Amino acid sequence: MGAEAHVSSDNATPDKETVWDVVVVGAGPAGASAAHAAACAGRRVLLLEKAELPRYKTCGGGIIGPSREALPPGFELPLRERVHAVTFSMNGKLARTRRSKHVLFGLINRPEFDAGLVEAAKDAGAEVRTGVSVTRVEQHGPSVPDRRTVAVVLADGETVLARAVVGADGSASRIGAHVGVKLDQVDLGLEAEIPVPETVAEDWAGRVLIDGAEGAATQRARTGVTETDGDELGAR
Ligand SMILES: Cc1cc2nc3c(=O)[nH]c(=O)nc-3n(C[C@H](O)[C@H](O)[C@H](O)COP(=O)(O)OP(=O)(O)OC[C@H]3O[C@@H](n4cnc5c(N)ncnc54)[C@H](O)[C@@H]3O)c2cc1C
Repeated sequence: MGAEAHVSSDNATPDKETVWDVVVVGAGPAGASAAHAAACAGRRVLLLEKAELPRYKTCGGGIIGPSREALPPGFELPLRERVHAVTFSMNGKLARTRRSKHVLFGLINRPEFDAGLVEAAKDAGAEVRTGVSVTRVEQHGPSVPDRRTVAVVLADGETVLARAVVGADGSASRIGAHVGVKLDQVDLGLEAEIPVPETVAEDWAGRVLIDGAEGAATQRARTGVTETDGDELGAR
């Protein structure tokens, strides 16, 4: 039997007796997929997201094989573009383009993709609450009825109880910090979407640019190419 939940907000979605089997924090691809999997396994799942959906996410939107294979069965990938070619350069110079007869990877729009995954989790039976930010989790103290239960505390002071909590709240994860995750380095990612003339868009259709001066970018480029699994990539 579950312990009684301490739900202090009047607009709380779950009924006041609920101790969720799984509370997932963060409705990006990781959280939505975890919520989907747990709901499919018959668990009572609450997915909490601080933003309203669809929410913007800084991302190139490239979907490589392992990501595609991890999607819920039957999930229709909202592909905007199929990439057949990659241009590599170093500080904007020495550009070389490699082309493939096959699709190297697809490009999706993140707000659309992420919202689709959340819909899949909902369809599987997960309950979703958006516009709620988790501030911390408590494993001891007056909010926690027993040792099998965790209290998830929201920004407005409401507490949600869970048997298990999945931290899928991104790179600055509060749940990660709770379990002792420490990052040696945090990098800043910037993104701009710039309209281009039609001729430029046509020239870049199905092609991406990877410009790098450091090992990381180069390594990512290599990973993209080896994904082709022995495909012949001809120079442009
Ligand atoms: C510039 C850039 C380009 C990228 N390009 C690619 C690419 O081309 N292909 C690729 O595969 N990956 C790419 N990535 C990486 C990709 O964006 C991440 O790996 C992916 O988004 C991680 O998914 P996630 O579900 O773990 O976290 P996120 O997508 O970050 O989702 C976390 C969610 O948790 C929510 N959240 C955070 N804190 C709380 C809280 N306290 N309470 C409630 N909710 C909370 C956030 O609002 C968010 O919706 C890129 C990343 C960057 C920065």
